[in-house]
Amino acid sequence: MNKFDFVIIGSGLGGLQTAYILSKEGFNVCVLEKNKKLGGVTQNFVRDGVVFDTGIHYIGSYDKGQVLHNYFKYFNLTEKLLVKKMDENAFDVVSFDNDENEYAYANGYDNFRRTIIEKFPKEKLALEKYTAILQEISNSLPLFNFEYSNNVSPKIEYITHGISDFLDSITKNERLKNVLAGTNMLYAGEKNKTPIYAHSVINNSFINSSYKFNGGSEQIANELANSIKSFGGTILTRTEVNKLEITERKIDFAQTTTGEKFFADNFISNIHPKQTFGLISREKVRKSYYNRVVNVENTISYFNLYITLKENSFEYKNSNYFHYKENNVWVASSYSIGKWPQFFMFIPTQKNANDKYANGVNVITYMKFEEVQKWADTSVNKRGDEYLAFKHKKEEQFLDAIELKLPNFRKHIKNVYSSTPLTVRDYIGCGDGSMYGIMKNFNNPLSSYFTPKTKVPNLLLTGQNTVLHGVLGVTIGSVLTSSEVLGLEYLFNKIRNTI
Ligand SMILES: Cc1cc2nc3c(=O)[nH]c(=O)nc-3n(C[C@H](O)[C@H](O)[C@H](O)COP(=O)(O)OP(=O)(O)OC[C@H]3O[C@@H](n4cnc5c(N)ncnc54)[C@H](O)[C@@H]3O)c2cc1C
Repeated sequence: MNKFDFVIIGSGLGGLQTAYILSKEGFNVCVLEKNKKLGGVTQNFVRDGVVFDTGIHYIGSYDKGQVLHNYFKYFNLTEKLLVKKMDENAFDVVSFDNDENEYAYANGYDNFRRTIIEKFPKEKLALEKYTAILQEISNSLPLFNFEYSNNVSPKIEYITHGISDFLDSITKNERLKNVLAGTNMLYAGEKNKTPIYAHSVINNSFINSSYKFNGGSEQIANELANSIKSFGGTILTRTEVNKLEITERKIDFAQTTTGEKFFADNFISNIHPKQTFGLISREKVRKSYYNRVVNVENTISYFNLYITLKENSFEYKNSNYFHYKENNVWVASSYSIGKWPQFFMFIPTQKNANDKYANGVNVITYMKFEEVQKWADTSVNKRGDEYLAFKHKKEEQFLDAIELKLPNFRKHIKNVYSSTPLTVRDYIGCGDGSMYGIMKNFNNPLSSYFTPKTKVPNLLLTGQNTVLHGVLGVTIGSVLTSSEVLGLEYLFNKIRNTI
């Protein structure tokens, strides 16, 4: 019989990190993953020899001694991952149609302030207020600041106030406000929803230092998996859980699509809470909790171009580009279909760390699930000709938008591949292809945050739907989830002792 201390459903970053912590502490852990590859959106795939990231394009706060580096040291990753620091003076670049300026975000707060003030010399005070709040919020969160405290929640005012209102309060300069909110795809920002907390923690993390992976982000998953196995853990791919069986209020076993049963004392779900509770008979869960989970609001989905480039044709830049049609970055996610795409994030890739030319580029924009709703009952590679024609039309529209910023970009292209919200849905198993899972909404903060503990006594949650999405948020989430078993003070001391 398959019997474990912990069964973890899903091998995304949060599932693997939680498995790492618990197996390192001597628990008998089994991770069940539906896909043939591990890692959720840490995964890469290869087209025409180009390695494409599917989810993690860069990480923040990874200088030695900074918070993510400290956590990754505990996860035994820092000596193994191949990373490259992004352009010191321009890790991210924000730009707009009809404005020849490029607004660069530089690594490190002094550098960041200096480069923005060069473009907005009259806005020094606003910049100081802006950077002060980012640091204040991040420093107030013990685990984001690599400190222990028995109170790890954000202050209420940080989750009940919006970043857009905050920017309105520090400056009247519309261009500056749009530049400072210009990387809002990193949290699928919405003007009337995004709390100051999500913006601040994420932007602070990248301003501290930004790195990208040489050879793709799935290194993280592969290294974590090797460690889990070395601690005696089990990881099974192509193993999709389709039922969590409850007897006497507790989960008894996880059952897979092939009928196999995995028994455990405790279960941890790395998948969206809505999908998690979809695996449990509805009458076994308290109605109010069940309703809260299934009615949760998700972030929007996206359309992704994976473009392979001709050799020695398009110069590589060690930056990410965020380009907007209008001087209103918030309309990008609420676009009207006729005006799509309002925005794109452009991420060049190179084969070797010192190559002069890019070998590919990953370009992402938002897409609402409703645009692909009519093919919702189809599965990968079986969606039919009409869907393929839709994808092709969108690819061309998207390339037209890119050429407004980069004239004649098509001449560098070898091949174009793309994914839609349906691809994301089927690949990650989230119902609507949501980019980052649950929407953080300052109007409704309580329904935006899920603790690792659930109303089922032996079921915990981990991954991007607990603390925050993104590598840093998920890493801290996996620490908090594991602390429900080990105690936070004990676990944090263990982590601190490794640095
Ligand atoms: C396009 C995109 C770009 C991003 N860029 C960045 C970035 O540059 N930097 C950054 O820090 N963050 C980035 N993020 C966010 C970050 O990648 C995610 O927040 C994080 O990786 C999510 O991890 P997770 O643990 O929640 O698991 P997920 O990656 O969501 O994985 C869940 C896993 O569960 C599996 N699963 C689902 N259902 C079942 C089932 N029934 N049985 C078994 N297994 C199942 C799935 O197959 C998957 O492997 C990006 C995300 C996206 C989508």
